[in-house]
Amino acid sequence: MSHDVLVIGAGCAGMRAAIEAHDAGADVAVVSKLHPTRSHSGAAEGGINAALGNAKEDSPEAHAYDTVKGSDFLGDQDAIEVFAKEAPGDIYQLENWGAVFTRAEDGRLAQRPFGAAGSPRTIFAADITGHVLIQVLYEQLVKRNIKVYEEFFAWKLVEDDGRCQGVIAWDMLNGGLKAISGKSVILATGGAGRVYRVTTNAYACTGDGMAMALRLGLPLKDMEFMQFHPTTLYPTGILITEGCRGEGAYLINKDGERFMKKYAPNALELASRDVVSRSEQTEIDEGRGINGSVMLDLRHLGAERIISRLPGSRELAMTYAGVDPIYDPIPVRPGAHYHMGGVSTDIHGKTELEGLYAAGEVACVSVHGANRLGGNSLMETITFGRRAGRTAAEDAHFAPDAAVPDSALADAERELGELLGRSGGERPWQVREELGSSMLDNFGVFRREEQMSNEIEIIEKLRHRYNNVVVEDKGGVFNSDLTQAIELGYCLDLAACMVQAGVARKESRGAHARPHDYPTRDDDQFMKHSVTRWVDGAPKLDYAPVTVTKWQPTERTY
Ligand SMILES: Cc1cc2nc3c(=O)[nH]c(=O)nc-3n(C[C@H](O)[C@H](O)[C@H](O)COP(=O)(O)OP(=O)(O)OC[C@H]3O[C@@H](n4cnc5c(N)ncnc54)[C@H](O)[C@@H]3O)c2cc1C
Repeated sequence: MSHDVLVIGAGCAGMRAAIEAHDAGADVAVVSKLHPTRSHSGAAEGGINAALGNAKEDSPEAHAYDTVKGSDFLGDQDAIEVFAKEAPGDIYQLENWGAVFTRAEDGRLAQRPFGAAGSPRTIFAADITGHVLIQVLYEQLVKRNIKVYEEFFAWKLVEDDGRCQGVIAWDMLNGGLKAISGKSVILATGGAGRVYRVTTNAYACTGDGMAMALRLGLPLKDMEFMQFHPTTLYPTGILITEGCRGEGAYLINKDGERFMKKYAPNALELASRDVVSRSEQTEIDEGRGINGSVMLDLRHLGAERIISRLPGSRELAMTYAGVDPIYDPIPVRPGAHYHMGGVSTDIHGKTELEGLYAAGEVACVSVHGANRLGGNSLMETITFGRRAGRTAAEDAHFAPDAAVPDSALADAERELGELLGRSGGERPWQVREELGSSMLDNFGVFRREEQMSNEIEIIEKLRHRYNNVVVEDKGGVFNSDLTQAIELGYCLDLAACMVQAGVARKESRGAHARPHDYPTRDDDQFMKHSVTRWVDGAPKLDYAPVTVTKWQPTERTY
């Protein structure tokens, strides 16, 4: 089990990287704990951003500026310029591969308005864009006969001789640990929304790749920036796409007032996500919500538009909230959605460790800075997935053969034996519940010093308890008791990094809002990336500069 390029993760980023590496001549394999088309990318609804030039005033330059401003000036502008410039070509590539994007009447690709975008820039396939992309990419994977180690759970990255050599994975179908090596290894394991109890993210989004890199000594960047999406369904937290507001839906409070006119008089419901989430939370906190929610009103769009443009959202609302948006508004509230932070990479997807790359939500390039714009994440998975795949394949050409040392596998076997050997102890779910609930309470839309300090102590205690959890299923076949216990360990480490960086950031920027003690952005002290490493069993925080090419920070209003 040895390859030129080994991709860990089979969402949009992983598959796009694998395709590119294959086309650059490498022998490629993909490791995934899920069947590729079940990856969370498939749940993406609203669309994907590129300045195709359909609107006369739009351009890659405008896309780049909107992204910089949206990031609250924490995004690296060199990365953002590359991103905006290469995005249109990547869209046409997907279209040529068969992505059935919705079309405008003149036959060109339709584009809908999305939050904080200067013009309609979001390409979409009704409201199942991610589903369409993941199917198209999977077809291309199959067409190229790219090997997929399906239902293999990557547990540990392995470093030897100053290089990443591969990964040790648990074979979920047959049981047992397997070593899989790659001259180049690309992390594409997605986000970590499951650190929170209520999230739009699938159960598999537990930040595995971030935590594996962290444990290997690599730096994670901007971990305090977790995006809360403004419209998640009450009570489940399932996402209702920003595409609803893009098509013209209103947000109203219990008095039927379109409250966004108070907070973002120009952009209204299409202000950036951090702004809309804070506005909703303020309405709810000040008693103008209903059941801890506000209402998303689509009624004025009419049945025809709702059915043709937003059929998935209608179905979700009917199934999970018992509301048909043609006749009634949908109860929504902010929910944990997207991690702007992740494994620090350069614009070629390279991490600090020779032979290790990262792309997609697991990575922090950083395109999104302190706040991501809707539609920019799918685009990032494609553009930077492609770039990482290309670099990894080219580097593999000159790299030495890779091998996971026997000693690394033996150490992992020992550790696994210890975990499965425990007979008494606490079951992991209790720890997971307490982590998720406390993160929601203490590290949500608004953050207070005291709550964050308290959360650090809670996480510390939970990490202590985690050391003694018991995995009751000792079997080899589909042992989800085991894999969930491992995932919980990842979530705990990441939560510790997030809150530590949050306490230290004494300002309000993007998704990190401290209205009670540091209500404004402080560019003098904090226009810098947080950088966290794992040192002696605890997170250690440092900072790195932001790359500015042409846009100096200005006040951000919508
Ligand atoms: C409900 C929802 C809707 C969204 N809508 C939009 C949208 O409309 N537009 C937009 O731009 N963005 C959207 N986003 C964000 C965007 O979809 C994601 O950020 C993006 O798809 C992440 O892609 P990825 O390839 O990085 O990771 P994922 O698609 O999450 O894939 C991760 C892969 O890694 C594998 N993996 C993880 N851990 C391991 C492990 N330990 N071992 C082996 N394999 C592992 C998984 O099996 C999976 O294949 C949405 C997100 C959500 C949750």
